[in-house]
Amino acid sequence: TNKSIGFVGLGVMGYPMVENLVKKLPQSVNVYVFDVVTQPMHMLSSQSNGKVEACGSAKGVAEKADIILTMLPEGSHVRSVYLTPDTGILSANINGKLLIDCSTIDTATSLAVASSIREKDASIAFYDAPVSGGNLGAQNATLTFMVGCAPDDVRFAGIQHLLAMMGTSVFACGGQSLGLTAKLCNNYCSGLIAIATAEAMNMGIKSGMSPRVLADIFHTSTAQSTICDKWNPVPGICPEAPASKGYAGGFKVQLMRKDFMLAVDSAKRVGATLTLGEAGLETYTAAMNDERCRDLDSRVVFRYIGGDED
Ligand code: NAD
Repeated sequence: TNKSIGFVGLGVMGYPMVENLVKKLPQSVNVYVFDVVTQPMHMLSSQSNGKVEACGSAKGVAEKADIILTMLPEGSHVRSVYLTPDTGILSANINGKLLIDCSTIDTATSLAVASSIREKDASIAFYDAPVSGGNLGAQNATLTFMVGCAPDDVRFAGIQHLLAMMGTSVFACGGQSLGLTAKLCNNYCSGLIAIATAEAMNMGIKSGMSPRVLADIFHTSTAQSTICDKWNPVPGICPEAPASKGYAGGFKVQLMRKDFMLAVDSAKRVGATLTLGEAGLETYTAAMNDERCRDLDSRVVFRYIGGDED
């Protein structure tokens, strides 16, 4: 593709995603970026030999780029980045452009943004395309993308080609907002696995087991999981995991709590039983409000339950 790319939201995920785009796009293709925090914009532009240009607003990005990606914390930020008069993406001249939102947000907000865009101009395309894989997946370009479209959507092949620069798997989830549905199902599951792994490891350690031996046993037993092997909540098990770095970086506990809220809401809407939904939501809410855990990686739930007290 020779289309220029825009990217709004340069946090834990967005920043390394842009770095991978810079590496893989042809040298002639420019990347336009914006974040309310200016430091990551300037770091990216100073490291890229002029390939990355910092803009003054989301609108500025949308004016210049042909394809615009967004990677923002919550629905309220997505709404504001797309719809704010004068500075939002929709206030730019974006006739015929492609917009891809990779944030994990509620389907209602995403559908509302989609319909505002359609009302403005039916030639603009908007897709939900949330990701899984965490900060390591973003850095290593091994993310999984869940795109809210049918597999035979005319734009899917192009989207797949672009997203493959940042990930290894790109799924068409069936229709608008179903990418978000897939993502919420995934995080409900992995968030519970994280709590279960933290609690089980804590129980074993308090009973005298070596955490290393216990993790090795899980690895070859039925408690094996990606959380256990790559994102173990116990410090020192996975050297690259946030738990081994004071729970810095990674997936913030308040974002996991947000995903549990969204999962519990959406389960109610469709009449699906989540026997552990409220328990998970309460656990992540309490961890988020615990000052030893706030703003840290969600696997800090191990600390929350008393696992890493000295
Ligand atoms: P983050 O908080 O690190 O980054 C969000 C960025 O958006 C920040 O740099 C912030 O300054 C910027 N921002 C906020 N409001 C803005 C605005 N109005 N205009 C421009 N920029 C704005 O969050 P993250 O970890 O990168 O997560 C982003 C999204 O991806 C969330 O929805 C999260 O649930 C999802 N996600 C995160 C992970 C993970 O492991 N961190 C994994 C998968 C999905």
